[in-house]
Amino acid sequence: MKINQLYLGHEMFANCYLLVDEKTGDAAVVDPAWYTDDFKNILAENNANLKYILLTHGHFDHIFGVHGLKEATGAKVVIHGNDAGHLLDENKSLARGNMPEPQKPVHADALVSDGDVITLGESKIRVMHTPGHTMGGVCYILEDDRVIISGDTLFCMTAGRTDFFDGSDELMIESLKRLIALDGDYRVLPGHNRETTLESERKRNWYIRRMVK
Ligand SMILES: [Zn+2]
Ligand SMILES: [Zn+2]
Repeated sequence: MKINQLYLGHEMFANCYLLVDEKTGDAAVVDPAWYTDDFKNILAENNANLKYILLTHGHFDHIFGVHGLKEATGAKVVIHGNDAGHLLDENKSLARGNMPEPQKPVHADALVSDGDVITLGESKIRVMHTPGHTMGGVCYILEDDRVIISGDTLFCMTAGRTDFFDGSDELMIESLKRLIALDGDYRVLPGHNRETTLESERKRNWYIRRMVK
């Protein structure tokens, strides 16, 4: 799978990733915080046929571009059921007061749960439900590429906040335990800041070190 990080032109926004199955050109975008015409050009440059908009969770800094991208491409919006309501409600997504314009509501096309496998061309994407930052947070695992797209669950050296209305420190700890229990090493592509590896986080992440004490 070809994995590109897209630059959306604003530091507030989450990291957005374009996944392209190279054999078929079928593609998915993870967490499109913002939709611009550049997006169309990027899809064209990558010969990408956009099938899915995969969301790690429902916060505005990950979803604000979903409406425009879905209208332009017809791609299916995929999210965990616990966060699907965030796509319809700018109070839940925390967009209200943080964005200059109202959030346009979007209905999810597919609700995923733990262990689901999404087929993208000839590639497989596994869903791991990792609540804690929100109740419907997920990681997308590209087993063949040894990549975890970790949303706002696992970050380089830390983890996502758990103090929003649907966050839970206990669930975050359970989710991090499940992630570090995966076999071997993975590249970790987080929702914010720079990429890391699972092995590095097992050793150095302050949140993980605190919880295993
Ligand atoms: Zn975020
Ligand atoms: Zn978030």
